[in-house]
Amino acid sequence: MVVHMVNAAALPIDSIQENYVREVYGIIFSVVYPTPFKSRVRLVAVSKEVLEGILDLDLSVSGSEDFLQLVSGAKLILGSLPLTHRYGGHQFGSWAGQLGDGRAHLIGVYTNRLGVSWELQLKGSGRTPYSRFVAHGDGDGRAVLHSSVREFLGSEAMHYLGIPTSRAASLVVSDDDVWRDRFYNGNVRKERGAIVLRVAKSWFRIGSLEILAHSGELDLLRMVLDHVIDEHFPSINLYDPNRYLAFFSRVVSETANLMALWMSVGFAHGVCNTDNFSLLSITIDYGPFGFMDSYDPDFVPNTSDDERRYKIGNQANVGMFNLNKLLQALNLLLAPRQKQLASQILEGYSEQYYRCFTEIFKRKLGLLGNDDEDNYLIAFLLKLMEDSRADFTMTFRQLSEISQDQLKDLSIPKEFWALQDVAEHEFFSHWVNLYLLRLKRNKGDSDFERRKRMTGINPRYVLRNWMAESAAQKAEKNDFSEVRLLQQILQFPFQAQTVAERAGYAQRPPAWAQEVKISCSS
Ligand code: AMP
Ligand code: MG
Repeated sequence: MVVHMVNAAALPIDSIQENYVREVYGIIFSVVYPTPFKSRVRLVAVSKEVLEGILDLDLSVSGSEDFLQLVSGAKLILGSLPLTHRYGGHQFGSWAGQLGDGRAHLIGVYTNRLGVSWELQLKGSGRTPYSRFVAHGDGDGRAVLHSSVREFLGSEAMHYLGIPTSRAASLVVSDDDVWRDRFYNGNVRKERGAIVLRVAKSWFRIGSLEILAHSGELDLLRMVLDHVIDEHFPSINLYDPNRYLAFFSRVVSETANLMALWMSVGFAHGVCNTDNFSLLSITIDYGPFGFMDSYDPDFVPNTSDDERRYKIGNQANVGMFNLNKLLQALNLLLAPRQKQLASQILEGYSEQYYRCFTEIFKRKLGLLGNDDEDNYLIAFLLKLMEDSRADFTMTFRQLSEISQDQLKDLSIPKEFWALQDVAEHEFFSHWVNLYLLRLKRNKGDSDFERRKRMTGINPRYVLRNWMAESAAQKAEKNDFSEVRLLQQILQFPFQAQTVAERAGYAQRPPAWAQEVKISCSS
């Protein structure tokens, strides 16, 4: 595999190559080599589709010693210069200063047979100038197996749900000790270091620009922006004086779309800081994320998010907050008239979000065409689900599977357990009446077609917290079977699968699911 580096000639690299934690100025990347594990490393999982479809590698390569060394940071691809990226960000609403790749290394960029370039990044591969201070307890540049299993499975699951995301190529685990106080309660546990090889078309974040704006490095800010536009926004002319406006407009609409997509599968990212928001509007930096079980706009997956800032129902607002921070950085490069236009673009965000949200939820309900009452119908159902704490994924799935005749009679079979929960609501029959009337207004539709459309968009399986937890706990005991099982099943989230049914993945979550706690350190 031949890789090249991120246009190294264009983006300045730190002249200091010594690896110690420090504030860095005037550069975008530092050269840092991954720190190999001291102990034995083994491959837990690989993504065949990423290897074959993105990296042009035959799956059999993953059995080789070379591959194991590459994906565990022990060996580099010939000609590769490993880089760590300097960025900043707003964390939980406040400017946090310099952050950066504190435990990740960009090991190369691969342009595949389709001509698409992918940046390969190891996560958990050792300390860098951007690592958190060790005094924090987890500034060791490592990632533990538990969180790596979650990132590997979570990002792949999102891809197969059709949501823009980074991908995961491989997951390795070592026997190196990594100490973690998972819940910040003084209970420090020994865990094992793991590394995920993740790939994305770009790892630049809002925070990549913010840090340059905050320290007044405007030439660099311009340079990074032009680089990102040149590489990833081919429809924008690099010589257009309004190119940053065009770029901002795209990021605003794509972020609105992403937030609506997250909502449509009940995904809460958990840490929506500006350093975790991609400039390409893909989902990145999987940490304490969660797919909600019961529908609850107050669902917070991250148990250390005390103020509930990143609850699922607040993600759309947070998207706006983050875009506003992006705008503040861009403003330094805009003329007064352009600033005005940029504010107007941002004002359009809410409308864009609601437009995307309505479109997606209409599809989730199988509605064709437009009707003034559509928003009401969607909001009405969500309110019933909220009141009855009905399961989000399975309510939509079962609405996709049930026939209109069954709905009309309100004869909901036992296996439609989530719908039965909603049906206990006093206004359910009222909603069903409205829904059935609305379905009649679908032009040229049949119940068979409706169900086919709806089962193709409403997943039967998502990576529920309890499923990830169970797989991660088994992995900690060197049983990787459930990681692989979930990886396989979640490749086809819209298809009923016997093994998945047997494992209870479409059943009511077990009682212990509510006890699962996930923090930034998990
Ligand atoms: P995150 O919350 O994972 O997005 O990380 C926020 C910042 O902390 C980023 O700059 C990370 O690189 C850094 N960081 C997170 N975990 C570690 C770790 N184990 N060692 C060093 N730095 C870390
Ligand atoms: Mg991050």
